[in-house]
Amino acid sequence: MKILVINCGSSSLKYQLYNMDNNEVLAKGLVERIGIEGSNLQHTPAGKDKVVFEQPLANHDEAIKLVMEKLVDPECGVISDLSEINGVGHRVLHGSKYFTESCVVTDEVKEVVRKCFDLGPLHNPANLMGIEACEKLMPGVPNIAVFDTAFHQTMPPKAYMYALPYEYYEKYDVRRYGFHGTSHRYVSKRAIEMLGNPEHSKVITCHLGNGSSIAAVKDGKVIDTTMGLTPLAGFEMGTRCGDIDPAIVPYLMKKENLTPDEIDTIMNKKSGLLGLTGRSSDFRDAEEAMNNGDERAKLALDMFRYQIAKFIGAYYVALGGCDAIVFTAGIGENNGGHRAAICEYLECLGVKIDAEKNKLRGADIDFTGEGSKIKTFIIPTDEELMIAQDTMELLNK
Ligand code: AMP
Repeated sequence: MKILVINCGSSSLKYQLYNMDNNEVLAKGLVERIGIEGSNLQHTPAGKDKVVFEQPLANHDEAIKLVMEKLVDPECGVISDLSEINGVGHRVLHGSKYFTESCVVTDEVKEVVRKCFDLGPLHNPANLMGIEACEKLMPGVPNIAVFDTAFHQTMPPKAYMYALPYEYYEKYDVRRYGFHGTSHRYVSKRAIEMLGNPEHSKVITCHLGNGSSIAAVKDGKVIDTTMGLTPLAGFEMGTRCGDIDPAIVPYLMKKENLTPDEIDTIMNKKSGLLGLTGRSSDFRDAEEAMNNGDERAKLALDMFRYQIAKFIGAYYVALGGCDAIVFTAGIGENNGGHRAAICEYLECLGVKIDAEKNKLRGADIDFTGEGSKIKTFIIPTDEELMIAQDTMELLNK
């Protein structure tokens, strides 16, 4: 069975074509600058060099059409006909309270994705465009929607409600949803396997990338997570501020004469590591700057590590203990320095790490130290594979 996985952003599109018989990636790629001057497709067939195609792409229809052309191209293609693709799995950012798991796209599903545009204004319209483009270009091939929010839907009300007037929950569905659900699902499942599939498990998953979130997972189900109504909540990220005193919002709006959209942009695009350092949203740049004596970079990284440790402490209490802490995504998988610094805060919980194993990367790694009360794992996330597996499972039903 061959499954195409598509992740549409507002002006970008990532894809991977899987052979599900052996989970092999046959080709993957990225379309950038859709609808903007300089559109291009970077296509990498397995085992071959990346090829770049530059041509105007006015919308997601044209982008997906070009991807399909390249998938069957005699030179850089990996299949001989599009009919070989059995299904398409789409990442959809926001499923609100309506989706607790992945589902086959129907007119009703599309209507609900549309209903969630307000909650995911940058992603949901693009996700729907991707779905509709595939419907048009591959009629009869099922599309499956995999929601970033779905895995977090098991949270109890005490974790997902905000202490605002109740009517806003009733009228506008204002509550915590959580994101990166596909990643938290993938790594928590793997962590439970690494623990030996116990009947009961308490796992804290730290997805630390450009966007970051942490989830508390009890017996395979999320009971709390750091992101909220939107992915802005939680702790310091590349460009997002994470949790702040909500009164800062009206205070700054008044002081700087800002519109709601302007303050939203400041908190989402100009804050976090970028805002604190005034340099870059990339954690590698901040580390280099810190090593060269930049005090603000040091502050920003100290804050990042401290805030993560605080959430892990909170989730230790929420779970009533912890069997394993998992680190994943760009920073979590690659940066032993941050992992070690975070785990140092956790020594009071009995966490000890193996400094040598903490230097490893590129595989599932147990870097628990001798005598540690909690296991510490590095697990490279694979959201695309999870989407492909969900798609296959739904097609086989
Ligand atoms: P992601 O959003 O998961 O792709 O993660 C992107 C973030 O991971 C960026 O801030 C990168 O700087 C960071 N990252 C990737 N590789 C490393 C590394 N070796 N050390 C530190 N940070 C890294």
